[in-house]
Amino acid sequence: MQMTDYDFELFVIGAGSGGVRAARTAANLGIRVAIAEDRHLGGTCVNVGCVPKKLFVYASHFREDFEAAKGFGWSLSEPGFDWPRLLSQKDRELERLRGIYGSLLDKSGVTLIEGRATLLDAHTVQVGETRYRSERILIATGGKPFIPDFPGNEHVVNSDDMFALDKLPKRLLIVGGGYIAVEFAGIMHGMGVNTKLCYRGEQILRGFDHDVRAFADQEMRKKGIDILLNTNIKSVARTESGYEAHTDRNQIVEADLILYATGRNPNTAGLGLSELGVALTENGEIVVDDRYQSNIPSIYALGDVTGGLNLTPVATAEAMALVNTLYTDKPTSVDYDYIPTAVFSQPNIGTVGLTESEAKERYSDIEIYKSVFTPMKHTLSGFDEKTMMKMIVRKSTDRVLGIHMVGPEAGEIIQGMAVAIRAGATKAVFDSTIGIHPTAAEELVTMRKSVG
Ligand code: FAD
Ligand code: NDP
Repeated sequence: MQMTDYDFELFVIGAGSGGVRAARTAANLGIRVAIAEDRHLGGTCVNVGCVPKKLFVYASHFREDFEAAKGFGWSLSEPGFDWPRLLSQKDRELERLRGIYGSLLDKSGVTLIEGRATLLDAHTVQVGETRYRSERILIATGGKPFIPDFPGNEHVVNSDDMFALDKLPKRLLIVGGGYIAVEFAGIMHGMGVNTKLCYRGEQILRGFDHDVRAFADQEMRKKGIDILLNTNIKSVARTESGYEAHTDRNQIVEADLILYATGRNPNTAGLGLSELGVALTENGEIVVDDRYQSNIPSIYALGDVTGGLNLTPVATAEAMALVNTLYTDKPTSVDYDYIPTAVFSQPNIGTVGLTESEAKERYSDIEIYKSVFTPMKHTLSGFDEKTMMKMIVRKSTDRVLGIHMVGPEAGEIIQGMAVAIRAGATKAVFDSTIGIHPTAAEELVTMRKSVG
């Protein structure tokens, strides 16, 4: 078949973080591109993920800020909080962002097709009644919340629902101990909701450094979030006043709303992938090589639908690498080492590089530097909130292998640290860097060895 027989050179399914970036970057290089979206432009991050979540984090933190202001001489009347107003403000901002996504695609010359896309063969996509032929197809359909099977699971809500609640519950039970559970625990607690978090394991935030996990748990509890560990929910039943969750420790937890934040599944069902023989993992993620190509040569995939690190900057970096590789003479790849990440819990968590246990598994000569202190703001705020910073160094090379932080603005601070680590900074470089005073971040250039 000649190239001209195709309607498009690249057909992208899913206008989320990865899909939009790939579509408009390819189109800017003169490639004929279409993108199909069946829900909302911008995908998870813009509509039910990073953006509205962070707006909620800001909103919820004001309660503490008002309280803290008293310690600095302010007197305030009892602040009121208007949830519907926050929702409409948030929706207005998302509308603006969707508009920007639409105009970016338009200006790049991408054809936007609204509707659910399915694959008919290795070069044909159907949306509604229309079939499109494309030289290459990119699947960037992301993921959706997963709720396990158990009696009463029809009564619980997922993270998408949390962005459109009619009213705030008085009592919230959150199930799960990952990013979304911990972030929503902070958000809802800050908004005055009596919040319980129930996690099946020994400690929340599996995969993070053990000190970060314990410290985050401690700080969240100090704020008043009730955390139940080693606890599974067996069933949920409706009651006159709300719901009750029955645990495997014979407890009954009463709540007005139950949020399941128990991970996400890739959006691959019903796309026509198995019929085409596209290789999937056991979880339904699309298997791709390091060029994001599936086992069917014309079909590519990236972002959350391929598993790995489900983060927006990872999906957009993959999109750039794919477009560079397919359509320029400068192929690039994504370096998955030292990807920083933040959990917008309260206080924030920021982390980059190896955890202590990962470092010790890899090397026998690890030094740990750790600092726990009261952030300056809390010397007058009256809050008993601490900050923790931890640095992991390899003795023989003096290379900094990991930095982990729990405290205000951890995400902002760790972003800069990630650049230093990726540039190969040694502990000596940190030590010779002059601090910015008075900041919390200066602690990272004055750390003294604390543990062997
Ligand atoms: P998505 O953004 O999910 O986009 C996929 C798109 O494909 C969707 O718009 C979907 O409607 C569309 N689609 C699916 N199937 C079809 C079909 N058959 N036809 C047409 N369209 C289809 N990441 C961060 O980096 N920082 C954060 O703070 C952060 N917070 C988050 C908070 C929450 C509550 C959640 C759920 C996620 C968060 N994430 C965060 C993760 C981030 O949102 C994802 O990693 C990112 O959106 C993945 O991008 P993607 O392009 O792979 O998929
Ligand atoms: P996570 O994978 O982070 O956490 C899922 C949690 O649910 C884990 O604690 C897991 O326990 C628990 N769990 C899984 N299955 C069950 C089950 N059957 N019963 C009880 N508990 C269960 O997923 P999230 O949903 O929190 O978030 C999805 C992804 O989105 C994140 O991994 C992250 O990549 C991204 N995200 C990023 C954010 C950011 O960058 N700030 C914010 C929000 C999301 P266990 O650990 O024991 O397996």
